Amino acid sequence: MKKKNLKLSDRGKLIIVISVLAILFGFLFFNIEKNGENHEIIKEENYYMKIDYPDIENKKENRKIIASIKKYIDEKKGEFIDSVRDLENKEIVYDFLVSNSMSEYEDITSVHLTVYSYTGGAHYIREDKSYYFKKDVGEEVDLTHFLVELDSLKRLADVSYSYILKYGAENDLNFLEDTVREGTEATFENFSHFTFMQSGLEILFPPYQVASWADGEIRIVIPYNELKGIIKDEYLKVSDIPSDVVVEKKTRDLTKFRDKKLIAFTFDDGPSNGPTNKLLDNLDRFEARVTFFVLGSRVNQYSSSLLRAYEQGNQIGSHTYSHLNLFKLKDADILREITNTNANVNAIIGEEPRLLRPPYGNINSEIKSLTNMYTILWNIDPEDWKYKDKDKIAANIVKNAHDGAIVLLHDIYETSVDGAILAMEQLQQEGYAFVTIDEMVTLKNVELDKSKSYFKF
Ligand code: ZN
Repeated sequence: MKKKNLKLSDRGKLIIVISVLAILFGFLFFNIEKNGENHEIIKEENYYMKIDYPDIENKKENRKIIASIKKYIDEKKGEFIDSVRDLENKEIVYDFLVSNSMSEYEDITSVHLTVYSYTGGAHYIREDKSYYFKKDVGEEVDLTHFLVELDSLKRLADVSYSYILKYGAENDLNFLEDTVREGTEATFENFSHFTFMQSGLEILFPPYQVASWADGEIRIVIPYNELKGIIKDEYLKVSDIPSDVVVEKKTRDLTKFRDKKLIAFTFDDGPSNGPTNKLLDNLDRFEARVTFFVLGSRVNQYSSSLLRAYEQGNQIGSHTYSHLNLFKLKDADILREITNTNANVNAIIGEEPRLLRPPYGNINSEIKSLTNMYTILWNIDPEDWKYKDKDKIAANIVKNAHDGAIVLLHDIYETSVDGAILAMEQLQQEGYAFVTIDEMVTLKNVELDKSKSYFKF
């Protein structure tokens, strides 16, 4: 009798375990489907990985293109892990980063991936990969789809050659004509990265292709009127360039916060669609304004989130362009990470960021003297990217909260935004006000110093 009972309860346990697993799996799956935006951060003892998967609509027609992008990233991940696994120097943290930019033009969606890996040596290894597919049917196409005829490639190559030399001259870069000639030879490989922009066709030449590594990537924009007979007419639709939009930022009366405890919520690695907008939807409930440290590589794709954040009165800072470890970069590369981000942000909100949050918090006095920006770090880190649990994130913030604190979060995860909202609900009861870094600085009468790093105020 006793034995039989035991057996039954074992079976019962098994059923419960299976049910729980099934629910968890279903939940996980549902979450991925729902979020669409897909990010992966892995921290191991000797390496760090950060992958932003492109935000492609998860519909049947797109499954094939999503799978082939994932396959490419998996291959690169595998190569990276293989090459760092046996490295003897355990002092160094190697890293692997994938960022992407996506754009739509006529019937085509394009995705550009940039893969950076550091496995020792003088600098990061960079690889670029672009995909073009028809929005409605998910069918992948290449440059031939856009060319009038196969021979048009030769003409595109010639135009590009002269535009690169012109770009070099305008930017005081000493390009070697032979290197430019070689990098613009009429092969499809040389012209695999292009984007249709308002002002023309932008062609990207990754580092080394037409110039030295130190000159970085080269982007030229060829106006559409130069591409007649080269690119099919249906892709040469020059839309009217909108007249300069006046962006208005709301500033607020800070006197009502004078006797409050202050806390600055900051959000890195965005902007995004879902999470950023959910946060913006909720800030008024707490009279809250926050600071976003955005990635230059993401702001064009999520420009409407960025503009909305700024117009609402939130502050926009820089988290650099590609999230590389600044300690592993040469001065020229560091400057490019900063200036490209500032230019992209400025083009959208009409103002350049003055605050810098270096990736991983890695900065020193040499880098500071290069950049002309104020360094803002943090002193409350709920490790939201790791736990992805809103209650845990909120509890950690509330437990560590104090007047003048700076909280580090990421507006690419819905759980991080939910955690911030929960924390604000509780902290508001405790007499806190939620302010941007600039508002904090004003209220605390701080004179920011470029040579310092601020963890709190
Ligand atoms: Zn970051």
